[in-house]
Amino acid sequence: MGILEVKGVNKRFGGLQALGDVNLSVAENTVHAIIGPNGAGKSTLLNCLVGKLLPDTGSVMFDGQSVLGRKPYQINQMGISRVFQTPEIFGDLTVLENVMIPCFASRDGAFRMHAIESVFSEKTMMDKALTMLEDVNMADKRHMHAASLSRGDKRRLEMAMCLVQDPKLLLLDEPTAGMARADTNNTIELLKEIKSKRDITMCIIEHDMHVVFSLADRITVLAQGTPLVEDAPENIKGNPKVREAYLGE
Ligand code: ADP
Ligand code: MG
Repeated sequence: MGILEVKGVNKRFGGLQALGDVNLSVAENTVHAIIGPNGAGKSTLLNCLVGKLLPDTGSVMFDGQSVLGRKPYQINQMGISRVFQTPEIFGDLTVLENVMIPCFASRDGAFRMHAIESVFSEKTMMDKALTMLEDVNMADKRHMHAASLSRGDKRRLEMAMCLVQDPKLLLLDEPTAGMARADTNNTIELLKEIKSKRDITMCIIEHDMHVVFSLADRITVLAQGTPLVEDAPENIKGNPKVREAYLGE
């Protein structure tokens, strides 16, 4: 049993079958990549996992519980965090304040909204946020305005905002899209570093094969809304079905 179990998921948009009978099992503490050509249904699948879309049929189980019908914030509280394609940060706030905000929504009861007024909680939150910033090598930038960060640091900050919630599963939708090679390599290193420091499962949608083969333990290839192959990275490269559907495009 994986930490994430998707079974028989279908999703239509009018006449278009975006997802057709998707089965996916993501093992705990692994990096599972989902690849496939444009329009294959990758983002739609991810949106079904975080409660942004409701599948027409099928089941999505996370950590033994169904996520279907739950609101995105409830799924977040179950332990699923998502990194967006463009960093969603608060530009007017400092780096440290940005990392403190998600603490309020953390699964840890000590950081709920009603605790904001307590000085003790605020101090605890600040400590937690600072430790997180140290983890992503941004502690020295804690007083900077988030808007003034470089693109790479904004990505790093967003990652810290997700991780401070101690998610069990981190979902990443094309985290290196539009990045130059140097930034892409930094992101790969950052994700490897994060993975080595904590127990976390990652599900990564990615177009860049260099990123996929650098990080993934397992790869699922999606084509026209349906999983074509699921295998270890070394078996994906030479698979003729995959070459035809994706690598050769
Ligand atoms: P990918 O992320 O793999 O590029 P998507 O999941 O974004 O693919 O899209 C899968 C298919 O579903 C595409 O044909 C896309 O145009 C269509 N689609 C995605 N979202 C919607 C929507 N909200 N309404 C209608 N069609 C959509
Ligand atoms: Mg997409």
